[in-house]
Amino acid sequence: MPYQSIRELANNLRTGQYSSEELTRNFLKRIANINPTLNAFISTTEEIALKQATDADKLLRSNESSNLLLGIPIAHKDIFCTNGVKTSCGSHMLDNFISPYDATVVEKLNRAGAVMLGKTNMDEFAMGSSNETSWYGAVQNPWDLTKVPGGSSGGSAAAVAAGLCIAATGTDTGGSIRQPASLCGITGLKPTYGRVSRFGMIAFASSLDQGGTLTRSVEDAAIMLQVMAGFDPKDSTSVEHPVPNYLDSLDADISGLRIGLPKEYFAANLDSGIADSVTAAIAEYQKLGAKVQDISLPHSNLVVPTYYVVAPAECSSNLARYDGVRFGHRCENPQDLMDLYQRSRSEGFGPEVKRRIMIGTYVLSAGYYDAYYLKAQQVRQLIAKDFEEAFAEVDVIMTPTSPTTAFRIGERMTDQVAMYLSDLYTIAAPLTGLPALSIPTSLVNGLPSGLQIMAKHFEEAKLLNVAHKLQQVTDWHTKMPPKSVIDM
Ligand code: GLN
Repeated sequence: MPYQSIRELANNLRTGQYSSEELTRNFLKRIANINPTLNAFISTTEEIALKQATDADKLLRSNESSNLLLGIPIAHKDIFCTNGVKTSCGSHMLDNFISPYDATVVEKLNRAGAVMLGKTNMDEFAMGSSNETSWYGAVQNPWDLTKVPGGSSGGSAAAVAAGLCIAATGTDTGGSIRQPASLCGITGLKPTYGRVSRFGMIAFASSLDQGGTLTRSVEDAAIMLQVMAGFDPKDSTSVEHPVPNYLDSLDADISGLRIGLPKEYFAANLDSGIADSVTAAIAEYQKLGAKVQDISLPHSNLVVPTYYVVAPAECSSNLARYDGVRFGHRCENPQDLMDLYQRSRSEGFGPEVKRRIMIGTYVLSAGYYDAYYLKAQQVRQLIAKDFEEAFAEVDVIMTPTSPTTAFRIGERMTDQVAMYLSDLYTIAAPLTGLPALSIPTSLVNGLPSGLQIMAKHFEEAKLLNVAHKLQQVTDWHTKMPPKSVIDM
């Protein structure tokens, strides 16, 4: 399947080259053919998709909506509640959960006329960097089926990369949009904390979780974010901040842009292929008139340990609601209430989720709270201050997205520290609430690699502008996985 942008598809739908129904049927067929290999979707929603597509066709014919997403087939990470549709969060615990309502993000995309093809695979409760903790099994990377697609939004990333949908939603708590985007060769955007509503997005770590987009291009990300962003009275952490027109500023001139390169992210042990690929992208920026300067984020070595106190603490609290009484899995023939809780939770959760709950309850328990949780929150402030100081000198910060390209399925499953280090470069953004995105750079040994760009709070427009400029002068984002891997 050739590379196609949302804008091209939207044009073709409007000139009547094909209908949304035809386009949707085509994608459903691709999913039926290719998904058994990739395992990128947990469920498909043919009936809803075809209904939405025919509704879109009516609107297209009557010229009633100019939204570029009208009639465009997308997918949702299975962490977003979808009315009347199974919402599993990648867990046995919620395998039987049919959501009674739509997440705000889903509702907004529905209203814009996007077509929902299905729900994508993910690490269980978004805990993981490889999509291997999913109760529904690992997802295969369309660039190399022996490799992981990254995680936790691995299903969304693989689906977009393999052309099983045009765009997908994802969530990012420590890197779960940007890292899989990087490993699958696509564009992943994590907006500022509070920019996109968390209502109906199943909670992992509430002070970190943020919904965002997985798309082929930056322009596609801007089109998606335009619909998804904005204040939501149903989410108390959503921020009342005006939503600019993201497409208007995409082409703005970036000459004189100050790019900061944090020396801690380009340490001597950085993989040389990744370093070269990022350096090539930065050289393009210099050609566009940007100025590069070295900066320092001195607390970078504390980012991963801080995250692995804060995130488990919040997860242990959030996941207490799965008690076998109100939602999800309930054990057979409970003897008493304690037995009901214990067996429902033991059977419903997988090993990584249990590990996080144990760490979380430990760091929050009396006597340890001050030593771990409080301390981590203090360090989080130091990390935020590093960025504040850096952004006084530069407009954007650029780093590699992931320390490695896609790794082998199984390779890190018995080494948690190795797995946790997959997010070395992506965790700072959620810890500080900053917006960040990953765009594809040149291939490294035939596998995708990514450039991460970070900006100040609520500067998504700048982030998208800067990233789009690179995609105007390079074609890395148009590369598709090799035909030999999956019949494209
Ligand atoms: N890989 C990280 C974790 O396991 C981040 C996951 C995420 O962003 N949801 O927690």
